[in-house]
Amino acid sequence: MGRTVILSPHLDDAVFSCWKLLTRDDGLVITICAGSPSGRTRPAYYDRLSGSSSPRERLRERREEDAAVLEAVGARYVHLDVLDAPYRRRRVAPLAIAQMVQELIPRDAHVVGPAAIGGHPDHLLVRQVALAFQERSNMVSLFADLPYASRYGWPSWVSGERGSPYLDVDAYWERWLSTIPERNLLVPVVHVLASGEQRRKLEAMRMYRTQFPAIEEGPSRRLSHPRRISFEVTWRFAAVPEGGSPSAVASGARCVRLGRSSHTNHGCGTTGAGPEARPSATSRTCPRSWWS
Ligand SMILES: [Zn+2]
Repeated sequence: MGRTVILSPHLDDAVFSCWKLLTRDDGLVITICAGSPSGRTRPAYYDRLSGSSSPRERLRERREEDAAVLEAVGARYVHLDVLDAPYRRRRVAPLAIAQMVQELIPRDAHVVGPAAIGGHPDHLLVRQVALAFQERSNMVSLFADLPYASRYGWPSWVSGERGSPYLDVDAYWERWLSTIPERNLLVPVVHVLASGEQRRKLEAMRMYRTQFPAIEEGPSRRLSHPRRISFEVTWRFAAVPEGGSPSAVASGARCVRLGRSSHTNHGCGTTGAGPEARPSATSRTCPRSWWS
């Protein structure tokens, strides 16, 4: 397998959703929506909620936070200059972003992108970027977006706990997964975080100090609740055997559970308007040649 490249929609998603991969693999995080709004831009709702009156200054703070966390865990990073959805005035083509990402990564990279559970427009955009790599024959995985994916807790096949007959978390997930082409090839992988990993992940998440309180939603503890922070989930695409059908692969697929001391298998079941803009990487923060 090639090196792991995590496509992070925002300056925190890789840490919130892919801590296990980030701390296990010698990887690269490419944050797509890390563009700086102009100095005259008025703050959108989320920036106001998190106490900012200057979107430009807030973006600068967020880049610094991200750099500090990723340097602390030993990950490489690149910040692209696509604007967050509330600040975009022009549609950005996913394929144009994919082309730019392709120039930054090795041919055999394992590309990990968001599953876009919860339907955030930036996560949906970056999911399209990740899926473009599947067409280019890269190995592609998708991650369950946190904190959105654990909004109703984890499905019982993740947590191992018996769920309520009146709450089907899979129905919520499927609402977003069902829009993925070749959805039936997705094989889930459950990553169990041991208590030390949970503690270190929480410390890292708190280092995003401008974001943590609003995303945590105070007493809801959307990031830190013990029943949420114990797991992460990714999906890989199963290969279609020669002469086999995708549905045959899916029906034989098994959920892979990774964590603690052993690996065990258990059965389980754009916003914007106007012409498209081409992103640029003027804000790249590590040299293109770092792979060599
Ligand atoms: Zn995000």
